[in-house]
Amino acid sequence: MKSYRKELWFQTRSRREFINITPDVDQCLTESGIQEGFVLVNAMHITASVFINDNESGLHQDFEVWLEKLAPEKPYSQYRHNGYEDNADAHLKRSVMGREVVVAVTEGKLDFGPWEQIFYGEFDGKRKKRVLVKIIGE
Ligand code: ZN
Repeated sequence: MKSYRKELWFQTRSRREFINITPDVDQCLTESGIQEGFVLVNAMHITASVFINDNESGLHQDFEVWLEKLAPEKPYSQYRHNGYEDNADAHLKRSVMGREVVVAVTEGKLDFGPWEQIFYGEFDGKRKKRVLVKIIGE
C-alpha cells in the first residue's frame, strides 16, 4: 500500500472565505501516483472547514447568510467563549460545515458525483492555516 501526505497552507484576506481546493487535491493525487484508494482532506484548525458542494457563487453567498443567522459574528459579548478571543462564531460555523471529506480514488481520479467540488471554508482568517491531505491506496 502506498501512502502520501501533504499540508496545504492558506491565508485569507477576509475573516470568512470559501476557496475551491479541488485543483490542489487533484495535484496531490497526481503526485501520489495512487490509482485506487481514498483521499482524506481535513482542516487542521477548529475554526475552519473542508466540505464538498457546488462551485456556484450564489450558493456560497447563501451559505454565508445562513451561517450568520445560525451563529452571528457580532455582538462578540453574546458568546461565553469570547474572552481573550472573538471567534466563538467561527467554532460554531465550522461545526456546522464539518471538519473533513473523504473521496474515493478510481483509476487515478477523484471519483466525484456530478458537480461535487472540495472547498476550504475559513471562518476566522487573516492568518496562516493548514489543510491536511492524506491519500492511501495502490
Ligand atoms: Zn476560539
